[in-house]
Amino acid sequence: MSALTIAVSGVVGLAVGSFLTVVVHRVPAGESIVAPGSRCPSCGTSIRAADNVPVLSYLLRRGRCRSCGAPIGARYPATELATALLFCAVAARLPSPWDVPAYCVLAAGLVALAAIDLSHLRLPTPVILVTGTVGGLLLVVASAATHQWTALVHAAAAGVACFVVFALLFVAARRAMGYGDVRLAALCGTFLGWLGDRVALVGVLLGIVAAGATALALLATGRAGRKARLPFGPFLAAGTIAAVLYGPTIARAWLG
Ligand SMILES: [Zn+2]
Repeated sequence: MSALTIAVSGVVGLAVGSFLTVVVHRVPAGESIVAPGSRCPSCGTSIRAADNVPVLSYLLRRGRCRSCGAPIGARYPATELATALLFCAVAARLPSPWDVPAYCVLAAGLVALAAIDLSHLRLPTPVILVTGTVGGLLLVVASAATHQWTALVHAAAAGVACFVVFALLFVAARRAMGYGDVRLAALCGTFLGWLGDRVALVGVLLGIVAAGATALALLATGRAGRKARLPFGPFLAAGTIAAVLYGPTIARAWLG
């Protein structure tokens, strides 16, 4: 991909990341993501457009509200920066420019879902549905543009396979997993399957291995008890992103 495409993806990623901080903050609270505009969480003052430039405003205001001086959480610029870097990586790694929009939508959805799951142990269905619908339509457009209709069949098959496997895991280990994880697995499986069956296998396995290793490490070091719930969403999201970016390379190393 050209340097220009990667740079444009990064700028779009900053803007989308800024929107995601709103989604992460308001969706779990049941608030509208459209209105009112951004406000300081401490004093409630509306944030001016000039103070709402991703990352830059945070650095210029030294992480403080212009009106009351209350510190603004570092997770705001961190979310914006992470989204921008993911958009750049997607643009740099995917073979066709037609594939980039769908996987940027997926990356954005996964950033929001992972962040919400980390703080609320929830994966809101509307975020999964919007990511799946918008990203899914973009996958159809990419399939049409590059004449890869069979990729859609693989996507649907992987999505259904992940749904069935995780639904069985959900029934077998009720405490370890929520039903949101089953929906998320179907979403990730669909997007990974479009890139290939092996990429889907790699992504889901990476997520499960990373979650299992973290759970064991937390238990062994006594930082979590047996009944503690570990959010599974961030691991599945990370495994999926890793497989989107490096799936074929990992598949060759693992599966030959
Ligand atoms: Zn304030």
